[in-house]
Amino acid sequence: MKFLLISAAVLFGAYKLYYSLRPRHTAPAVFPLKPEYKRILAESFPYYQKLPSRLKGKFERRVMSFILRKRFISRSKQIPVVTSEMKVLIAASAVQLTFGLPYVELIHFYKILIYSNDYYSHISRRYHKGETNPMHGIIVFSWNNFSHGLFPHDGINLGLHEMAHALRLENSIRNGEHNFLDSRALSHWEKLAAKKIAVIQQGDNRFLRDYGGVNQEEFFAVSVEAFFEVPDAFLSNLPELYHAMVKLLKQDPLNLENLYLK
Ligand SMILES: [Zn+2]
Repeated sequence: MKFLLISAAVLFGAYKLYYSLRPRHTAPAVFPLKPEYKRILAESFPYYQKLPSRLKGKFERRVMSFILRKRFISRSKQIPVVTSEMKVLIAASAVQLTFGLPYVELIHFYKILIYSNDYYSHISRRYHKGETNPMHGIIVFSWNNFSHGLFPHDGINLGLHEMAHALRLENSIRNGEHNFLDSRALSHWEKLAAKKIAVIQQGDNRFLRDYGGVNQEEFFAVSVEAFFEVPDAFLSNLPELYHAMVKLLKQDPLNLENLYLK
């Protein structure tokens, strides 16, 4: 018994050492983006269109890397194959959210499921537009809602919403790609979020979707949508929270020119 306990302690120590020595961020694969994929980004992805040209190559490599390292699976007969457009725009949403951070690939979430429309969940017994499921390592989208979310300036973006859930989860799952969010910036953001959630729950909300009042995870996802879609309005309505988002995600959608990546 004693031997077993010592062995377990040694194994646990080795495990901790392995994770402390292992680089926290893997590098993106260095394959160039296919020309077809690049055309889709240039025509259909507003964030990429706004990026200064010195950063476009980096964005493209991260998109290619994300596509190569995920499994994209159709769950609807209406989607006989997952198209290049689907892969590129889903990958680009993840890269947009994480672009200011050291390379983060959301490695826990290795499968992307795509339905054509709202889909019925037998677990929650209701229809969903999308979900992020850490138990199964999946992110799910309904394509009609995902594509509507790409229209800028309405504060709604399903792609960013689900990627935001995945980002917070990934930050706390011990897998070698975790703790990448600055802990001081995160705890400052959490304090401000708690105050604003209380305001929403009291029915006195003037900005951000009320759905953010459900809990801190939904509040983060809803804030991410507004941060990228309506940054001017976000800054003028909730300046303290806006600056906390800038510190947390290490980018400012109102000032992408000044984005410097390591
Ligand atoms: Zn959500």
